[in-house]
Amino acid sequence: MKNRHSDPNIRVRFAPSPTGVLHIGSARTALFNYLFARHTGGTFILRIEDTDRGRSTIESENNIIEGMKWLGLDWDEGPDAEGPFGHYRQMERLGIYKKYAQKLLVENKAYHCFCKPEELEKEREAQMKEGIAPRYSGKCKNKSKDEAEKLIALNTPHVIRFVIEPKKIIVNDLIRGNVEFDSSLFGDFVMVKSDGVPIFIFSNVVDDIEMKISHVIRGEDHLSNTPKQILVYEALGAVPPQFAHIPMILGPDKSKLSKRHGATSIDDYKNQGFLADAIVNFISLLGWNPGTDQEIFTREDLIKQFSLERIQKSGAVFNIEKLKWLNGNYIRNLKIDKLTELCIPYLQEASLMVLAPSEKELARLEKIILLEQSRIQTISEISGHIDYFFKEPQIDQKILIPKKGNAETTKKALDASAVFIMTIDNADFEANKLKDIWYKFCEQNNFKPIEVLWPLRAAFTGKEASAGAFEIMEILGKEKCVERINRAISVL
Ligand code: GLU
Repeated sequence: MKNRHSDPNIRVRFAPSPTGVLHIGSARTALFNYLFARHTGGTFILRIEDTDRGRSTIESENNIIEGMKWLGLDWDEGPDAEGPFGHYRQMERLGIYKKYAQKLLVENKAYHCFCKPEELEKEREAQMKEGIAPRYSGKCKNKSKDEAEKLIALNTPHVIRFVIEPKKIIVNDLIRGNVEFDSSLFGDFVMVKSDGVPIFIFSNVVDDIEMKISHVIRGEDHLSNTPKQILVYEALGAVPPQFAHIPMILGPDKSKLSKRHGATSIDDYKNQGFLADAIVNFISLLGWNPGTDQEIFTREDLIKQFSLERIQKSGAVFNIEKLKWLNGNYIRNLKIDKLTELCIPYLQEASLMVLAPSEKELARLEKIILLEQSRIQTISEISGHIDYFFKEPQIDQKILIPKKGNAETTKKALDASAVFIMTIDNADFEANKLKDIWYKFCEQNNFKPIEVLWPLRAAFTGKEASAGAFEIMEILGKEKCVERINRAISVL
């Protein structure tokens, strides 16, 4: 969905490493990039950063892609939408990184390093002992090119290190303002590993240059990589993009959101019965706000109102209750046939249904689900709310007796109801009519409505809370109602 106006100069990307499933934090990064692109009429790119070969998996990549599709975050260029700057998987772009690394080597902005891991470890330990922050000594920087070439010809394992120019670097971040770093503390970092695969800091910059990325919108955890990346841009003679580091997502205890706080993957939320639109709405507000009281946004609203200026610096607290509340709102706005379709797998999982419903069963099911549409906050709650329509409820004496009532009056009310219900015409077995009929019955028999309606409802459902007695009666039908009233009488 591109905006009316379009700006060819705005190009943003979501660049996940497929080392795990799509989680709330990465989905929000994707969303902010998507919204910024759609708001400005720019281009939204999906780039898979799979250079960490030990940890990257195709399952994670698929999960991320499926999750984005489910959330409706469609991209303009990406692995399955090759554009003019493809490929969009880093492992398919190794030749490009090699070319860039070569350029830096030729210009003495990078060098081959032959230090063995054990040597580096010793160096590290010694520095730690002296209380210095560990960093590479720069030993191999002084090797002549001839010497390096000879070692390479002998197949000596080596990496490529980037030459850090010691200086003050100011990251001019669109969200955080100016953040200053001292690069003399960094040490020459490894930009290409011994297997020839680049590390993220380097390949990420090369791709952002090649793909003409204008804005890098990513998590604040990457802020510390930014000064190194700025040095790489400078060394390559390229202008860095604008950076916008978005605040961390925090748990209710204000520490970084993690599994410890509960589910974090988009799949988990999907399985629990959260709707994609509700999640998009919810995560849009994790760090961004429109400057008004509005809390419910259609996708169009979000696209229209989103701006980087309104992203906050401080951490964004993840409030599950708010997500549930939003989800409840979205559930209420679903058409009943859509909601029913979403509920069916949960009912099957709870063994309340086995086969796909027939047309007649579907009509009944829609009526049942309509009763609960405004009472559930997640789709997965549905089974626990409507199970009594599919199996006999367990009836506990305690539940049958209303708060101020007792067993004796409850039994009397149910006995009278069991007799009375038989006299009701089948044609009158409809919620509205039943309501009038039962209120009249209470009046004529000197029952307070609660003395009759509470135990009836409890007899039908076995629950302390549920939809109203008349709506339930209409769906259960006379015979089932009589049967359940009699069962309830037997436990009193
Ligand atoms: N692959 C990096 C990550 O998943 C991307 C960081 C960036 O957006 O620049 O964190």
